Amino acid sequence: MEAHELTARAIRDRVAAGELTAEAATRACLERIAAVEGKLHAFVSVDAEGALRRAREIDAALARGEAPGPLCGVPIALKDNICTAGTRTTCASRILANYVPPYNATVVERVLAAGAVVIGKTNLDEFAMGSSTENSAFGPTRNPWDLGRVPGGSSGGSAAAVAAGEAVMALGSDTGGSIRQPASFCGVVGLKPTYGRVSRYGLVAFASSLDQIGPIARDVADAALLLGVIAPHDPRDSTSAPAPVPDYLGRLEADVRGRRVGLPREFFIEGMDPEVEAAVRGAVEVLARQGAEIIEVSLPHNRIDARDGQLSAYSVAAYYLIATAEASSNLARYDGAHYGHRTQDDVGMIEMFARSRQEGFGPEVKRRIILGTYALSSGYYDAYYLKASKVRSLIKRDFDEAFKAVDAIACPTSPTAAFRIGERADDPLRMYMGDVFTISANLAGIPGIAVPCGFTADGLPIGLQLLAKPFDELALLQLARAFERATAHHRRRPPL
Ligand code: GLN
Repeated sequence: MEAHELTARAIRDRVAAGELTAEAATRACLERIAAVEGKLHAFVSVDAEGALRRAREIDAALARGEAPGPLCGVPIALKDNICTAGTRTTCASRILANYVPPYNATVVERVLAAGAVVIGKTNLDEFAMGSSTENSAFGPTRNPWDLGRVPGGSSGGSAAAVAAGEAVMALGSDTGGSIRQPASFCGVVGLKPTYGRVSRYGLVAFASSLDQIGPIARDVADAALLLGVIAPHDPRDSTSAPAPVPDYLGRLEADVRGRRVGLPREFFIEGMDPEVEAAVRGAVEVLARQGAEIIEVSLPHNRIDARDGQLSAYSVAAYYLIATAEASSNLARYDGAHYGHRTQDDVGMIEMFARSRQEGFGPEVKRRIILGTYALSSGYYDAYYLKASKVRSLIKRDFDEAFKAVDAIACPTSPTAAFRIGERADDPLRMYMGDVFTISANLAGIPGIAVPCGFTADGLPIGLQLLAKPFDELALLQLARAFERATAHHRRRPPL
């Protein structure tokens, strides 16, 4: 097996034992990037020289007898909305095309302190707004399983890079599904932590009450390892929780006998994609065979309706009001004056603001700023934003109730497997409805994991989603690992 195909644990162990160098592991990923990146476009930028320099520093430190960190020598990719000091952080937007942050996000400090090598910054939907990575100002990323299809989004570059072996693991961000859905489309593991579990310091804000950073990896144990590195409390983010960090990796292999897994009645709807339904139900049976107790639960305010092939749900409506409202406020800072793109036109100050934004933002970002500004405007606030906030409370209450009876909830990650590039690009509503299984977790603030659970007849990956109560990422990881132990889906690699 070549170094880029190894797990992060194997790389770390071999580097620590002197059987592999950090430099060789980094070169393996860089060679893989050289071989497949032309097809995939998973990265916005690759810093080969910087990565190799860093890898040699790690090798030198080990040679001096310094203790290896938990990610020693592991090549990692970072979504390009996570700030890296001295390296461009673009959010896949023209408005930040040349933005070089003066500081590292806390998660970047943490993975560096753990010994990881940052190999590059991955592509995303502009400002993480989208579900396909087609909204990137720098062009779409392609799905490694089928180059005619999207990798999902918005962390599509991170998921594609990990699936294709361009990086061993990656960080993504998830506001409404952006870690879990691309993980599911690319056949890898993605975990959205509880709101407050991971510091958002240095994550470019999209919707601050929903955003979380989390791991994308090729197996559950690597996801557990990376979560443990980034989870400790950060005083620089006031929403970062001082909750103790369990030994996710050390406690991963658990007996799941007697664990109660809920199937939400409202999620298994008529007209569901039969291949997705079969794979998810099959996965639940695998858990049942290991002794998990399967219980039907009800999430009435998370009900999904299907009429004439068109889905609808309160959760999606509430999310697209709350997320756009917060985005309209967060994105007000891109005015051509503080940082980022400024119009070259010789105009007055007010016109300069308007033209810089007109030139810098893409169509989906503009749509959301307009929607969010409208939802917050005087006279409409109560009808839209306030109402959406009330729906959000009801959605959260559903989960509070359900988790009195179960330890986790199982459902699909996405209603379909990866769709074709361009298929939904002109139909925002259809694109938004694809988030119907992931959005509730962000509104409720609870953790969720996506794990590969099967393939369509066309060979596209399908993802099982598990949800748990706040700060019970350990339960998610243990159940996901129990499923993985009994199956081989996660070992299949795309035929690139
Ligand atoms: N697809 C959702 C959106 O477009 C979620 C994006 C995300 O999680 N960043 O808003």
